[in-house]
Amino acid sequence: MSIAIIYPNRDVSAWVAALHAHDPALAIEVWPEIGAPDQVEYALCWNHPEGVLQEFPNLKCVSSLGAGVNHLLNDRSCPPEVPLVRLVDTGLKQSMAEYVMLGVLEHLRRFAGYRRQQHHAEWLPLPVPPISEVGIGLMGCGEIGRYVAGKLTAFGFPVHGWSRRPQALAGVKVFAGDDQLNAFLARSDVLVCLLPLTTETAGILDATTFSRLPANAYLINAARGAHLVEADLLSALASGHLSGALLDVFRDEPLPKSHPFWKHPRIMITPHIASVTNPRSAALQVVENYRRAVQGERLSNLVDRRQGY
Ligand code: NDP
Repeated sequence: MSIAIIYPNRDVSAWVAALHAHDPALAIEVWPEIGAPDQVEYALCWNHPEGVLQEFPNLKCVSSLGAGVNHLLNDRSCPPEVPLVRLVDTGLKQSMAEYVMLGVLEHLRRFAGYRRQQHHAEWLPLPVPPISEVGIGLMGCGEIGRYVAGKLTAFGFPVHGWSRRPQALAGVKVFAGDDQLNAFLARSDVLVCLLPLTTETAGILDATTFSRLPANAYLINAARGAHLVEADLLSALASGHLSGALLDVFRDEPLPKSHPFWKHPRIMITPHIASVTNPRSAALQVVENYRRAVQGERLSNLVDRRQGY
């Protein structure tokens, strides 16, 4: 009976140590050096090669090593009868809150402009709006979105959210469903995408969405690259309707060297690091879910395959 960690080309020793810190007796195999595939009951996956899960005939659970699961749902070797879980982790939420806060403030306080000015030894104060007048729209008010909303609200931003179903969130008006999307967008001076990638949300950051944002709106996409229609972003920046974008995720990762985003003066790029799982913070829930899977108990952070997240 073992856990397999499938995280190609990565040193997973921190994961092994963190899991053993909670259960020293845990049998852990690291792909591709799996000694006994038929003993593997729990697969922990990130960037796993498609088809690899077929190697394990006795899986009781497949877990994402992050919050997103689209990589697993898209893999036909992920057995449909085996429960799929993901990580819900305070460290992951906090890290995303830092990323979004920094992105919003960096944009509003014009740091990219000052960097350019410094290059030319130019002393020129740039205008700054009061944060109480900058509407932050969070697309996706789930585990991460709600946490980010709390931090931004505490800092003084007017924050509103958008989710599939209505929900009550202290200090934050949450719009729900397609019917309320336009009202949500109309007050989003900064639009932050924290949605899961599903058939419904793929391509949601497109020309229509951008056209419904206020003029000069700023985009932060920290969800998945396929949420964004890249050509539509370039057009919206060229027309001046969008003032800029901070992008952490891309359709092709790593972003190809020839991609026009790299040299765009109003696009800031980070290499999918908005929030990276810290094994020490997340290992306990893995050990706990493994125990539950083996004992046939209800798992936590279960993914609803039909809704795609
Ligand atoms: P959750 O599943 O907890 O929340 C998802 C939210 O999106 C929910 O509020 C849900 O609505 C909403 N949603 C889903 N589909 C729709 C839809 N069609 N229309 C409107 N709202 C919708 O996910 P997390 O908050 O844990 O994570 C969100 C995503 O963030 C992950 O899937 C991942 O892709 C991304 N991520 C990126 C990272 C990075 O480093 N770049 C790191 C971590 C996560 P409802 O509440 O009604 O269900």
